[in-house]
Amino acid sequence: MPREVAADIVILGAGPGGGALAYALKDSGAEVLLVERGGFLPVEPANWDAEAVFGQGRYKTSEHWFDTARGAAYQPGNHYWVGGQTKMYGANLQRLRLEDFDALEHRDGTAPAWPLRYDEIEPFYTEAEALFAVRGAAGIDPTEPPRSAPFPHLPIPHEPAIEALVETLTKQGLRPHPLEMAIHWNDSGCNPEVPCTGCDGFPCMAGGKADAETQCIGPALASPTVRLMTHTQVERLHATPGGRRVQAAEAVHRGERLTIKGSQFVLACGAVNSPVVLLRSQEASWPAGLGNRHDQVGRCYMLQNQSALMAVDPRRRTALTMQKTVGVHDFLFSTPDAAYPAGALQTLGKLTGSMLQTDKRFLPAWLLKILAERSIDWWMTSEELPDPDNRVRLGTGGRIEITWKPNNEAAHDHLVTQAKRMMRKAGYPLIFHKRFGIAANAHQCGTLRMGTDPASSVCDAGGKVHGLENLYVADASLFPSSTAMAPTLTLVALSLRLGRLLAGA
Ligand SMILES: Cc1cc2nc3c(=O)[nH]c(=O)nc-3n(C[C@H](O)[C@H](O)[C@H](O)COP(=O)(O)OP(=O)(O)OC[C@H]3O[C@@H](n4cnc5c(N)ncnc54)[C@H](O)[C@@H]3O)c2cc1C
Ligand code: SF4
Repeated sequence: MPREVAADIVILGAGPGGGALAYALKDSGAEVLLVERGGFLPVEPANWDAEAVFGQGRYKTSEHWFDTARGAAYQPGNHYWVGGQTKMYGANLQRLRLEDFDALEHRDGTAPAWPLRYDEIEPFYTEAEALFAVRGAAGIDPTEPPRSAPFPHLPIPHEPAIEALVETLTKQGLRPHPLEMAIHWNDSGCNPEVPCTGCDGFPCMAGGKADAETQCIGPALASPTVRLMTHTQVERLHATPGGRRVQAAEAVHRGERLTIKGSQFVLACGAVNSPVVLLRSQEASWPAGLGNRHDQVGRCYMLQNQSALMAVDPRRRTALTMQKTVGVHDFLFSTPDAAYPAGALQTLGKLTGSMLQTDKRFLPAWLLKILAERSIDWWMTSEELPDPDNRVRLGTGGRIEITWKPNNEAAHDHLVTQAKRMMRKAGYPLIFHKRFGIAANAHQCGTLRMGTDPASSVCDAGGKVHGLENLYVADASLFPSSTAMAPTLTLVALSLRLGRLLAGA
């Protein structure tokens, strides 16, 4: 017989979705159990070693998923740790725009409306920004939505090369804004003196990054009613006879099989693993998997269209350390050349020669170092539209299969053109550009989307799975559209909102 553990509320997955929910429930009086397949990410010198992090994928999962379009397995950019992907994230925390909550016309189709209004989520955005100690300045970005409170902290100051760039871009008629960042700037080991070029893709050795472990799970565990089980992988859920409620989760903890019982269950394993758990949970009453009566589980997998751009002026060094302080949203909903949305620009964590070397092994290290010392680097995101044929499935032997064909790519190409033009005008004549594909799944979302119609969605607007009384979702799977914004603040806000509901349940 498997060992049994029990709690009132069982949260499966300790990323930002599950972590923020545990935080929201810490004073509710309910016994909360967080179940996480990974352990704590070690703080060690390799955290900032580009070869270890990017070259060898030290913190990435070793598992492979199957790309059905190419007919080949690939290693996804997924990280299984307490804190989920936020241990590696770039710490840019943005609100969605008002336009994202309505149906939005794109070059290649329409992004659907969300089943909730901005003003319903706004108080939770404010709470989420406070929880993650976000830095920013309101009133500069023309696309920003209304806010009921100022940013909790002032923005990170620009270094001289970025200050000069902001001036040039402003003269071009653009409206660059201070990037919204979740970093304990100067209040921790993160300051201009540390030999770290930014959070993007690296764990933090200095205790500076505000991630789901530091901001949510750590504080939640200080409560006597919240417990965490690490190294515990959930395999499937079991429903009661008749299939109206979930009665248990089946998991494996370091080789030992466990039955986890609870009154409420919340799935927060991320946008691929949450649907996988449901698809594995087949019962007589749910033959295609729990919540999957209408064959919607796993559909509409979205990653966003994403690229990096490196603009080089060979004549001068930029001497940048903390580059990730500016965003440009002038092309978000239209451009001077097109009436459709193109996307968002933000500076990246500073690229270095050793980071470039992990991707361009055939180029000499000295050349890459010279280029990186003279560049300003950007991250570019455009919306990808929900396509029901882009989906997560279980294949032969239970392997995870991903079918993904990107869309709205012409809009992204247009964004890249605008960014190149902007940087050439700013005095950077050499431009390099890299497009990311299926394995760069940082912003994965959409596979258990919220909606009002059970025939075309998996969850309702509160995150409850249609047809099940006590099963909720609290992660990026809920997103009905990918938007061009960074996803984490929104999924944290949704979890805080769900926490309010479950605390009263
Ligand atoms: C390099 C990188 C940079 C990024 N930069 C940004 C950024 O700047 N801003 C931003 O907003 N977003 C950023 N993101 C994206 C952001 O980190 C994710 O959107 C966010 O973490 C998703 O949260 P989640 O709760 O949906 O899933 P996850 O973060 O994936 O959390 C899911 C958790 O569930 C666990 N789990 C999975 N399967 C199981 C199972 N079967 N049993 C038990 N536990 C399980 C996982 O280990 C994980 O801890 C970045 C991501 C990456 C990888
Ligand atoms: S930039 Fe600061 S917060 Fe980010 S990883 Fe480096 S030291 Fe940590």
